[in-house]
Amino acid sequence: MARVQLYDATLRDGMGGVGMSLTAAEKLRVVQRLDELGVDLIEAGFPASNPKERELFALLEQARLRHAQIVAFGMTRRRGCSADQDDGLRVLAESFAPVCTLVGKSSTLQVQKVLRVSKRENLAMIGESVSFLRAAGKRVLFDAEHFFDGYRADADYALQTLRAARDAGCERAVLCDTNGGSLPGEVGRIVAAVRRELPDLALGIHTHNDSGCAVANALVAVEAGATQVQGTVNGIGERTGNANLITIIADLQLKMGVKVLSASRLARLTETAHYIDELLNRAPNPNQPYVGRHAFAHKAGMHASGVRSDPATFEHVDPASVGNQRELVVSELSGRATLLARAAEAGIELPEGAAARAADQIKELEHAGYQFEAADGSFELLLRQRSGRYRPLFRLESWRVIVEKRAEGRAQTEATIKIWVPDGEGERRYIQTAEGNGPVNALDNALRAAIGAVHPQLRDVELVNYKVRILDESKGTGAVTRVLIDASDGHRVWGTIGVSENLISASWEALVDSLEYGMVVAESSLGHRGRNGRPRRPVKTMPAAARARRRARPSEAI
Ligand SMILES: [Zn+2]
Repeated sequence: MARVQLYDATLRDGMGGVGMSLTAAEKLRVVQRLDELGVDLIEAGFPASNPKERELFALLEQARLRHAQIVAFGMTRRRGCSADQDDGLRVLAESFAPVCTLVGKSSTLQVQKVLRVSKRENLAMIGESVSFLRAAGKRVLFDAEHFFDGYRADADYALQTLRAARDAGCERAVLCDTNGGSLPGEVGRIVAAVRRELPDLALGIHTHNDSGCAVANALVAVEAGATQVQGTVNGIGERTGNANLITIIADLQLKMGVKVLSASRLARLTETAHYIDELLNRAPNPNQPYVGRHAFAHKAGMHASGVRSDPATFEHVDPASVGNQRELVVSELSGRATLLARAAEAGIELPEGAAARAADQIKELEHAGYQFEAADGSFELLLRQRSGRYRPLFRLESWRVIVEKRAEGRAQTEATIKIWVPDGEGERRYIQTAEGNGPVNALDNALRAAIGAVHPQLRDVELVNYKVRILDESKGTGAVTRVLIDASDGHRVWGTIGVSENLISASWEALVDSLEYGMVVAESSLGHRGRNGRPRRPVKTMPAAARARRRARPSEAI
């Protein structure tokens, strides 16, 4: 069987899902993770639809990816103009992205009712748009929108649209089940028929889950000859979602014998899936195939003893093959071997027994609501504390926040902190008061004012993102609040976490970690050298206006 390409649409189609939102810096983190996983093509969206997309493409242009290629997404030209007069196509041609995916209509119904052009003009729109981008030196993929519905109604015309794209030089046609209503039998039949009609045209498959068959439809398409599968991480997307690329990867490799990733990369599947959920501020689905927390959970009794004697009795695959664990999984990070590997990557030496104690501590923290997948900064600080060589920035005596709401509508916030900062052999006490437009902002200002004099490097550290989730732990303990903060020094972004029954207290914890880790970055050569001594990918500093906007964000929320 030919090699099957993995094409991720999380950042474009996936963002169509209700409540899905990522900043440009977060999208860059998604791209880096997907690149590390071994995804071939990553669709980043349309390069200039808004300032956020523009910022993203500027960041992506600077990012050094090991394997993946960035895809810019756009539409075929407007009706009644030439391709070189079409603003959208010009933007695609000028983008740095080496690959462009062009979406066009393959269904007569869509051409007549939605585009309102003649069938002939639609074919010209497809062919001329592909030619234009080919002439601009791009590799072009043609997304045949509504292909399956179109094929059922008018197979001959649906095939003509593919021919128009092929003859103009597109390297692959992607058959889309845009409305998501197709079933596996017909998808398999139609893909096989297209293969017979156009044996020289490489095919891809793009499916949605409206009939609950998105993954199944992608798999049957591969069986029928498609050599590219498109999907989103964890199946996020409009309505009922896109095909879940995470499930597809595991199915292809472990069930169908289609090797898409190395075994060691496949073992990062669970971690990657959870990481992206955390960035999206979404609780990972515990029942998700392969990577869910309960995907390999066994209750006491016959199952558990069966699994002990031979895992094949109750498990369809080895959980370790996808980086998951048997039984009630605590986390991907709490395994002792994983901890030691992470510590080694960060250059931390853990003394005898420290890794086991760190693993126990992480399990306890996770039970209390912590999740370290996206809080890499807090996780590394925890390991550093366990190494016995870590010196915190300061010792807290107390903090206090006063929020006063005035009759005219203004709310004023003031924070006072009392801390002890190491000074030579002893400690020096600092008392600092600061105002802010919210409690976290006021605490941040006070803390920076107090230790900024001692550690001027922290002036470069900015809070770029602030997320709150209420965890309803149904353990009779009441809800707790989890705060995730992303901070950046302009080169790197790191995540920290705080959990408490009190929102401000949780925020304080994450805030302190973000500055503590900022010092780790500033002091070590981490800012210049990557893990294992490889150069770290530079992350372009955000434009000044975007920075100002970001800086304001955490405090607007809280
Ligand atoms: Zn789609």
